[in-house]
Amino acid sequence: MSVLELFDVHRTHGHGETAVRALRGVSLAVAEGELVAVMGPSGSGKSTLLNLAGGLDRPSDGGVAIEGRRLDGMRRRELAAVRRRSVGYVFQDLNLLPALTAAENVAMPLELDGVSARAARRTALAALADVELADCARRFPDELSGGQQQRVAIARALVGRRRLILADEPTGALDSLTGEAVLRLMRSKVDGGAAGVLVTHEARHAAWADRVVFLRDGRIVDASGPLAQPEQLLDGAAS
Ligand code: ADP
Ligand code: MG
Repeated sequence: MSVLELFDVHRTHGHGETAVRALRGVSLAVAEGELVAVMGPSGSGKSTLLNLAGGLDRPSDGGVAIEGRRLDGMRRRELAAVRRRSVGYVFQDLNLLPALTAAENVAMPLELDGVSARAARRTALAALADVELADCARRFPDELSGGQQQRVAIARALVGRRRLILADEPTGALDSLTGEAVLRLMRSKVDGGAAGVLVTHEARHAAWADRVVFLRDGRIVDASGPLAQPEQLLDGAAS
């Protein structure tokens, strides 16, 4: 079953003379257990695609469905619940809450969803252990290094039973060890039954994916099956 489906999605940013056609008819389905890498030049529409996939933005035309449910017909509240429960976003922004400890930051989305405080804390501690921060659970963000804060944010993005994991160049601001850890974590969430979309400009990161789609000028121009030789796919797809 497809966890994520995009049906002939168009997205134009702005109006009139300054309008930018960021996506021009993109269709994509991502099944459970599948991690898809999206590559393409800067400005090709990668982030726009990811924002639409997660319900953070709406298409100008076409549709998006998560777990078989079209987002376009949903009310705001319903859409917010889908975003909170089903979708995990790994973006470069951290947005940790400074007044909460690392464990409390990670537990927050679970508690918002009605998980008991005790169960949320237990799950949060496990998520922190996954990013090798078990020892930092009681620290506040300003007591953590930049890299540790990023890992807390990643643990929070992936905690719980997210069915769809979206990552926009998640390793961009991370040191290479932390970057690998994020990809490994994403891969294991996907292997556990989620679906994932990973925007990246690095072939060695795309190699974690089951397939790669290339965007250019808002269209999918190429798609590969399982990655045999990722370097071949990089031709003409700089950053
Ligand atoms: P990528 O992530 O591949 O670099 P984006 O999806 O960010 O590409 O952007 C695709 C195109 O849409 C670019 O030309 C970009 O300038 C434009 N764009 C993106 N977001 C906006 C916005 N909010 N308003 C106007 N133009 C935008
Ligand atoms: Mg981008």
